[in-house]
Amino acid sequence: MSIQCPLCKSDQVITLDQGKKIGAVVGTVGGAASGIAGAMTGAASGAEFGVTVGLVAGPAGSALGGLAGAIFGGLIGAATGGITGAKLGEVVDQRVLDNYNCQSCGISFSRGSSDPAI
Ligand SMILES: [Zn+2]
Repeated sequence: MSIQCPLCKSDQVITLDQGKKIGAVVGTVGGAASGIAGAMTGAASGAEFGVTVGLVAGPAGSALGGLAGAIFGGLIGAATGGITGAKLGEVVDQRVLDNYNCQSCGISFSRGSSDPAI
């Protein structure tokens, strides 16, 4: 099913996915921050990774292990946060934002909108 422009009835309509893009960025940054924070406090899997590396490498390597854990935790947090943020943004796109843009007349509108924002 193709989306039709409510104003000019053109089917040259694209999705903007702004919420999805913003959500992915916010989720990635927030996820990385919480992942690192989790690794620092020992709550995240990144910390466990750091402790394991530290134990294997010995007491001298625990600082290095902690750093690796923080990086590892940050990466995991960024990946999961980015996915979560993108999903949240997708919901915002579908329900809140004018996610559709007509390539013929240039208006943006949301699905089911009977009152296009010109
Ligand atoms: Zn149009």
